[in-house]
Amino acid sequence: IRKQQLIPKAQYGGRHAVTMLPGGGIGPECMGYVREIFKYVGAPVDFEVVDIDPTMDNDDDVQYAITTIKRNGVGIKGNIETKSEAAYVTSRNVALRNELDMYAYVLNCKSYPGVVTRHKDIDVCIIRQNTEGEYAMLEHESVNGVIESMKVVTASNSLRVARFAFEYAKRNGRKKVTTVHKANIMKLSDGLFLETSRRLAKEYPDIEHNDMIIDNCCMQLVAKPHQFDVMLMTNLYGSIVSNVVCGLLGGAGLLSGRNYGDHYAVFEPGTRNTGTAIAGKNVANPVAMINASIDMLEHLGHHFHADLIRRAVNKTINVDRVMTSDVGGTASSTDVVNAIIGNIGRC
Ligand code: ADP
Ligand code: MG
Repeated sequence: IRKQQLIPKAQYGGRHAVTMLPGGGIGPECMGYVREIFKYVGAPVDFEVVDIDPTMDNDDDVQYAITTIKRNGVGIKGNIETKSEAAYVTSRNVALRNELDMYAYVLNCKSYPGVVTRHKDIDVCIIRQNTEGEYAMLEHESVNGVIESMKVVTASNSLRVARFAFEYAKRNGRKKVTTVHKANIMKLSDGLFLETSRRLAKEYPDIEHNDMIIDNCCMQLVAKPHQFDVMLMTNLYGSIVSNVVCGLLGGAGLLSGRNYGDHYAVFEPGTRNTGTAIAGKNVANPVAMINASIDMLEHLGHHFHADLIRRAVNKTINVDRVMTSDVGGTASSTDVVNAIIGNIGRC
């Protein structure tokens, strides 16, 4: 009873509807944990669940999911698989991001002191162009045995995501933005991306700007990650660098990522893995999806509930050290979720 008194009750009115796309692999079980925790804290959110059949050759499910996100404005998702072999059926995750014009992906990478890793106290923020570049999905066989794949970089999207990065840095008290590129080889495409960020940097004299070639960047990240603050890059480099940094911090099961456009926002585990091999075994780390749900609550303005859950997650990992095996623990997924729930309102 004492514990219950600490837990806020959802008020009538002011509830938010959010689209939930569980996706494949460990997505559905992780969403179950999120629901359990939201119910416990009384988070004023109602989920509209949309399941997408990965074997379908048409995109009716995806279109329906997009419609509900347009209506609700906000979504939370697992990784959606595309199992159709047909070349014309393109990635559903990419289609979703493109159709909702969510041009910026934000991955906050902050070390958990309770997770043993090679480097301590990393705190970098990766901002990735999320809708074009190498993910243009424009591939064709021009003549037999020759495949051409287009990488599309536009001035308008380069500017939007660069502005997003500098504004993010300014609002969050960050000191430096590093543009990551391969403009020495891809002189036109990456060159445009780099030049755009250089030009924009002049509008932000209080924020240091530098740039780094992607290959050196990967070496610097694993050797001296503390030199980085905010990192800005195109789509594919963003995917790879995100995985490098998540790896440095403890793997796929911890961090969450945020997709933003001017109108919609979708929250998901940071490395966007499906986790097919570990599904249904009660071993998946639930923290990445729980962190995605905290991001979502923050976005909706439910700071009180977000804070309650965040503090409970931090205590579970850093103090109680109840963790799944991917981050060196011995707990099951449900052990971790129960430990988090037990810490809510008590730390
Ligand atoms: P993809 O979806 O890109 O094919 P996988 O599903 O194979 O990626 O995931 C990559 C690796 O990360 C696998 O070893 C998987 O077990 C691990 N992984 C992904 N998510 C989690 C999680 N939540 N907890 C623990 N391990 C995870
Ligand atoms: Mg997989």
